[in-house]
This record gives sequence, C-alpha cells and structure tokens, in this order.
Amino acid sequence: MSDGSNVAEPTGLPSGVERRPFDGTERLATRGEPVYGEPTDGEWRAWNPNRSKLGAMLELGMDTGLAGGETVLYLGAAAGTTVSHVADFAGPTYAVEFAARPTRELLEAVDSRPRLFPLLKDARKPRTYAHVVEPVDILVQDVATRGQAAVAAANAQFLRADGRLLLAVKARSEDVTADPRSVFDDVRDELRDSYEVLASRRLDPYHDDHLGVVARPSGDR
Ligand code: SAM
Repeated sequence: MSDGSNVAEPTGLPSGVERRPFDGTERLATRGEPVYGEPTDGEWRAWNPNRSKLGAMLELGMDTGLAGGETVLYLGAAAGTTVSHVADFAGPTYAVEFAARPTRELLEAVDSRPRLFPLLKDARKPRTYAHVVEPVDILVQDVATRGQAAVAAANAQFLRADGRLLLAVKARSEDVTADPRSVFDDVRDELRDSYEVLASRRLDPYHDDHLGVVARPSGDR
C-alpha cells in the first residue's frame, strides 16, 4: 500500500478506455457523446483526470480491477462528468446523486446513454434504492461528504463477493483542520469492518488531499 504521488504509466485500462492523441497529447478517452466540454476526436472523448478522481486513479496506474462491461453503482454522480465515462465502457450503471440541480444536468448525459440510470437518492440511505439496484461488480464512490467510510459500508450490500470498491476520499470533507494523513488512516481503519483494502494512494497531482482506494468486500460484511 502506498500514499506516494509519483505519476506512473497507467496499467490495465478497461476495455473501452484507451490512451489516444488529442492535439498531440496522449490522453485517456472513452467513446461517447461529450458532457463537460472535453475535447473529442471522432467518437472518442478525452477523460480529464483533473476533473475525475476515477480518471486520476486510472491515470496513476492503480489496479482498479475494471475490465469493461461491469455492472456499476456510482455514488456521488453530480452532473455526470465521471459517471458518463463509466457508462461509456461499463454495463448497467446506476448513478446516485442527492442534489437536484446536478441531477438535472446529469439527465443530459443520460440521453445518449441507455445503460445509465440516474437515481435522485441519498447514498446514506441505501434502503431507498435497494429495490432498483441489482448486485453490482463495481461500487464507485465520490461523495465528498463527512462519513465517507460509513457510506461505503452502507452500500457494501450491493457489491458481489468478488466485486471492487473504487473510492475517492476527500480529507477536508471529514475534517478541514486535520492532517490528511491521519484522516486517510482513520478512513482505511473504518473501511476494514466491511472491506479488505487492496491498494490506496494519494491522487496528487490531479486532486489535492484526496486518497484513491481499491478494496474488495470482506467476508464479515
Ligand atoms: N463524482 C463526480 C464526478 O467525478 O463527476 C463529482 C462528485 S462531487 C465531488 C460530490 C457529489 O456528491 C456532489 O454532487 C454531492 O451533491 C454528492 N453527494 C454528497 N453527499 C451525498 C449523498 N449522501 N448522497 C448522494 N450524493 C451525495
């Protein structure tokens, strides 16, 4: 496990995610309609790691376990920047967001993505969407709110036994005054009640004071 921030060559990109040249620079890209003004080249759209924690995790070479085609539950979808890329290469993708305004924008990304299902729900209350969401291979979480480990624990019920949690932890959402390192230690400790942490690293230089975590469900959840 490492909190290092050296930029590494990406490994193991899922099928449907490629590194392609945009204006002479190699960038991660997926195939789909543009959502946030990102550069396009034919049917490909650049995936900006500065605007996407999952994009940063892939750019930094974290082993996410993503192969492409998986069923995904995405918590904290906002206006769809990242979840639109996910829906470009994944299977059915359930996108939970509790704020109405970004959800309205998310609907524009949904228009051209028949496998993307928006849910105006609170991720702290999984019972309110348990009747809609099927068991998933991948749980992506980027809620930037206090209690991020508790949200991941509450949603572990949706994850298949061999599935993966891909979590972005924002230190300042837990405690603006604390040293991010101690926040990340606490989050990793709390996660261990429901998950086995496989890898974690800081998402610098793309996102300050954020930790990317890859975990799998533990037997005890
Ligand atoms: N993941 C998005 C992306 O990369 O495009 C950005 C997400 S933004 C950092 C965090 C989002 O989580 C906000 O839109 C916020 O409204 C949402 N959020 C925070 N707490 C939530 C909760 N309990 N349930 C659902 N959404 C929540």
